[in-house]
Amino acid sequence: MTATVITNIAELVTNDPGADDLLGAIADAALVVEGSTVAWVVRAGEAPAADEQVDAGGRAVIPGFVDSHSHLVFAGDRAAEFAARMAGESYAAGGIRTTVAATRAATDEQLTSQVARLVDEMRRQGTTTVEIKSGYGLTVRDEARSLAVARQFTEETTFLGAHVVPEGDPGEYVDLVTGPMLDAAKEHARWIDVFCERGAFDADQARAILRAGEAAGLRGRLHANQLGPGPGVGLAAELGLVAVDHCTYLEDSDVAALRDSGTIATLLPGVEFSTRQPYPDARRLLDAGVRVALASDCNPGSCFTSSIPLCIALAVREMGMTPAEAVHATTYVGALALDRDDVGALVPGRRADLVVLDAPTHVHLAYRPGVPLVAATWVGGRPA
Ligand SMILES: [Zn+2]
Repeated sequence: MTATVITNIAELVTNDPGADDLLGAIADAALVVEGSTVAWVVRAGEAPAADEQVDAGGRAVIPGFVDSHSHLVFAGDRAAEFAARMAGESYAAGGIRTTVAATRAATDEQLTSQVARLVDEMRRQGTTTVEIKSGYGLTVRDEARSLAVARQFTEETTFLGAHVVPEGDPGEYVDLVTGPMLDAAKEHARWIDVFCERGAFDADQARAILRAGEAAGLRGRLHANQLGPGPGVGLAAELGLVAVDHCTYLEDSDVAALRDSGTIATLLPGVEFSTRQPYPDARRLLDAGVRVALASDCNPGSCFTSSIPLCIALAVREMGMTPAEAVHATTYVGALALDRDDVGALVPGRRADLVVLDAPTHVHLAYRPGVPLVAATWVGGRPA
């Protein structure tokens, strides 16, 4: 097995949970990779001999970003809708149907090349693990093939047949989602998700869909409390879900429920940026003892960015997070939000997925917004 040592790291973010500081940061460090995993994390000068040596040139090295929420399987473009919104029109969930029509009309090859392009775009910005949802097919055939396309790129695939009711009777559509659609989707998916929001699915429908998914071997997640207060966050806590996503409008009881259940609140600030909605209050959640992840929600409607560095900058500037909290939320907690213990940290035994920053410290991700700071992304111990 080939051993590679990366030396001359100005700051190594390990996310070691046993460290005194949140990021387990080591100044003037070296990191040894054996095969695809991290073998040693040491101070420079203490590194053992290795087959290959890489000089980080005084840059910072952080774990690769774990983006636990994206919708990359789609066709078409909604730039005109974005422009209209910026001209004063409000966002509603119904815009999803525009993308559904384009996605149904696309070939498998077109969908695959679109996902490949976006995953590559993410990787160039430091993302090494990505979750990808279906949800723009909304027929048995189109949901199953959307997930089959996503599976080519990640193990973290999520069946989101309950994105919006495409047409017809909502009750009949829930029966379709929990019946034939779930049957066709489950072999390609690890997770099941529901958009629990006014205009999409209510709490009873969401509960029924998540229970059906669980019975089929899928684990639940939720989109909730994005456009206004609602029952979704409470439902996620009640069901003990790993994560609930958006969490923009929360009552005190929602915050307490998240704290008590341990359900992670995944905040998606690119959405608020792109829709001119108020940002979720990360500080309130962190101060209450809730675990907070950040993800991109990359999708063609409400947020067409694939950039985790942008999410970090927004979370720090607009949501009360420190740079360290935001980096932790996009790496370590992102991995927890996907129930993964093999990524999200640079400690011995974890996968050597890492980012070399063109900066001496992680702080630059928020301090220098909009600047391409990712010098290199490594996946499984090799530059990607
Ligand atoms: Zn989403």
